[in-house]
Amino acid sequence: MYPVAAAALGRVLTVAGMMATDMKSIDNVLSIIVKGDGPLGNIVCVARQDGALKGYVNNPQLDLPLNHKGKLDVGKAVGRTGTLTVIKDLGLKEPYVGQVNLVTGEIGDDMANYYWISEQQPSVVALGVLVNPDLSVRASGGYIIQPLPEADEEIIGSIEKKIKEMPSVSSLIEQGHSPEGILEILLGNFDLKILGRTPLSFHCDCNRERLEQVVISLGKEELTNIMETDGQAELICHYCNTKYYFSREELASLIEKAE
Ligand SMILES: [Zn+2]
Repeated sequence: MYPVAAAALGRVLTVAGMMATDMKSIDNVLSIIVKGDGPLGNIVCVARQDGALKGYVNNPQLDLPLNHKGKLDVGKAVGRTGTLTVIKDLGLKEPYVGQVNLVTGEIGDDMANYYWISEQQPSVVALGVLVNPDLSVRASGGYIIQPLPEADEEIIGSIEKKIKEMPSVSSLIEQGHSPEGILEILLGNFDLKILGRTPLSFHCDCNRERLEQVVISLGKEELTNIMETDGQAELICHYCNTKYYFSREELASLIEKAE
């Protein structure tokens, strides 16, 4: 994954992780889909309430020059026109779906806009990813701050002022600040209490059965075509790059199921 793609995916994964751990129960799943008109293509991230995360971008090897501030140009990669969709599967009959138009494609601004438009919640969303010259990720993280409805205007004002004076979240992480340390810098003057911690981890729950369903959903005609031209099929999970092979015999039995 090239730096600008890693930065874009890292920002969406970070915010997805924070939003998901805010949900109620362990089987709740949250997805964020960013569809911009930029060359990166779509960004898709899925996060569980217990902190398990996965995600991908359509074009991970996108390379773009730095923007005028010398930063990775996530806005250009994502595009400034398009949609950001949040899907919350809360185990109810229908999932909750909220969608807004992109504002800058930088993700942080777009998520703050999502909270305001879709959930009527004023929010500060800070997200940042630093990438090393060897393409490994040096620092990645973020924070979301949301006042309760009865919050004091004066306190909100002083937090806003504090945020403007703060270094970027990625440079705070690079300097070695923990999440608690960053909160202490931001909110230490306001009787900060840490109420919970959820570790985040990569986890892909793909399996052969699920991929079989994907193959079946192609339909009889398409499957017959694949079997006659290629004699087999190979599917690669977007999230973890696991390869799944389907032999001619297996395709034949899936075609029967498709019927
Ligand atoms: Zn997978």
